[in-house]
Amino acid sequence: MALRVFRRFFGSKFFPLISSSDSESEIEPPVTNLEQLSENVLKLDKPFVDHITIKVQSGRGGDGCYALYKPRGSRGKFPCGGNGGRGGDVYIESLRDIKTLRLPKEFRAEDGQNGQGADCHGKKGECVTIKVPIGTLVKEVNPLGQHRTIGNFDKPDKILVAKGGLGGKGNKDFPSVTEKESGGQCQKKVLSLELKLIADVGLVGFPNAGKTSLLASLTRACPKIASYPFTTLHPYVGNLEFIDGSRISIADMPGLIEGASENKGLGHEFLKHIQRTKMLIYVLDITQDPGNTLVTLYSELKLYDEKLVKKPCLIILNKVDLVDNKDELTAFEQQLGRKVTKVSAKYGTGLGELVSEINDKILAYQEAVKELNGNILRQTQL
Ligand code: GDP
Ligand code: MG
Repeated sequence: MALRVFRRFFGSKFFPLISSSDSESEIEPPVTNLEQLSENVLKLDKPFVDHITIKVQSGRGGDGCYALYKPRGSRGKFPCGGNGGRGGDVYIESLRDIKTLRLPKEFRAEDGQNGQGADCHGKKGECVTIKVPIGTLVKEVNPLGQHRTIGNFDKPDKILVAKGGLGGKGNKDFPSVTEKESGGQCQKKVLSLELKLIADVGLVGFPNAGKTSLLASLTRACPKIASYPFTTLHPYVGNLEFIDGSRISIADMPGLIEGASENKGLGHEFLKHIQRTKMLIYVLDITQDPGNTLVTLYSELKLYDEKLVKKPCLIILNKVDLVDNKDELTAFEQQLGRKVTKVSAKYGTGLGELVSEINDKILAYQEAVKELNGNILRQTQL
């Protein structure tokens, strides 16, 4: 039964997965079992990126006022026009308790009010602060679609992204009584916000499945390998270099156990890390009931965050050197209804094929991101 469900899910056409604020706004019906889930995933036809593009606009400065008053008994008139208020600024602030980039598409600070007679200054416009998670990278996007990094939030911080216009001076402040000043212009910007990735690829699997061994075989990282649960307490990242010289990073995540979504074992700590990868590799130990392991892994990831199971993925059966009967391998693949990569992390079997599959998925992801960015930019042109 479990495998039948997985065939429906994993056997589906690959949609580069990726989450976007566009797609997030579509509320999926609640899913109570894996069968329904696989149907939902099959319906997903829009690529998603962990990334949002927003428009920000600061407030315009209020105009200075031209006004004169004539004191009682005096012949002359005197200037009394007050200054305009400053337009509100737009800030971005990173906070520890903010976890997602689920934000509106537009932010606009308030304009400053115009100055008035009797030397009354206009009120300053309200500022706007956009709250984002730690790890957010903020880039300004110019009309040509070029990106320039303006903020990199590695700790709680606050930066100004659009400055409000200055208030114009009223005629009270000018030597010539006939003069007054208009308020300063607002700033309009298109910003791209994205959560920085820990690595391009995350290895997920139960303890002892061989994730650390696989990372060591694929990359130059030399992680500690031991045959007891939770060897890997922190994600360990290594770089995989392709023949064309391009590189991607792979993170070995702490072993997932049943109940991780309820914060058992290393639970949330682990799941938090894998949220920030482009794709996942499910590493299954061929000798440890891979079908049920896959179902459990999938359910745990989904319980924590539905986006995790929408990431592009590869499924690999590790430790093939321990199985003599190759029919077993083929049977698993047939039951699942999609290709499974068979490897031995220890002896290097099947790693070449795995590398080219990783390369294909990453390229597909990059294409999807490029296309999505282009669409978002077209929609947000000021
Ligand atoms: P992790 O907990 O998923 O990171 O698993 P490790 O990489 O630490 O490996 C757990 C144990 O499985 C170690 O004793 C490894 O030597 C062994 N192991 C890993 N890959 C293979 C493999 O392909 N074949 C065999 N026979 N053993 C493996
Ligand atoms: Mg490990």
